[in-house]
This record gives sequence, C-alpha cells and structure tokens, in this order.
Amino acid sequence: MPIYEFGCRSCASVTEYYTRKYEIPASVDCSSCGSTETVKLVSLTNYRFPVKHKYSDDFVEKSLPFLKSRKELKGMFETDTKESDESKAMKVSDQIGQQIDRVIHKQLKDMNR
Ligand SMILES: [Zn+2]
Repeated sequence: MPIYEFGCRSCASVTEYYTRKYEIPASVDCSSCGSTETVKLVSLTNYRFPVKHKYSDDFVEKSLPFLKSRKELKGMFETDTKESDESKAMKVSDQIGQQIDRVIHKQLKDMNR
C-alpha cells in the first residue's frame, strides 16, 4: 500500500497517509494538531508511481514553496541559471529524493524543538 507523507505547517510533524488510490489529496489533517495546513512531502514512495503530470498544480503550489523554504536547498534555487524553479525542484527530487526526505524530516524535527 502506498504511503504518502504530509508535513504540517503548524506543528511541523509528519503525518503518514495510506491509500490504495492513485489520487493523492492535496493535504490531509495533521495527526498531531489536526491542522489542515499540511503539504505533501517529496517521498521516494511517490516515485514508484507513474507521474502523469510532471508539474502538477499541487507540486507547483504546495511542494515547491515548501522545498524553496528549506535552508539546505536554498542555494540551489538561488543559483542563476535559465532553468525554472519547477525544473530544479524536479531534478532534485529525481536525483536525491531519499536525501530530501531525510533533510525535510530533520528540518521538521528541528522546527519542533
Ligand atoms: Zn500539526
């Protein structure tokens, strides 16, 4: 069963979401504080699925700002290239999906302290 992870903007905890469907909700209720202000995290699990829309609205509106707000990834987005942020983010996702997971998880934990 695929697992998706959502990061909470309010309390920074990670909520796991299990689904058999191919459709992934834009956000889920946070398991810690109940906030609906959650954002889907880039997760290796997601890439075991065929991605139909490369830059989905969800990705551009939710995941991308979240990634851009991460200190570790800031340098990448500030690099002066002709590449779009979306493209950069996707590249990072492809290359180091698992590492991003770790970075985000660590960040979320640090934010909680
Ligand atoms: Zn929360």
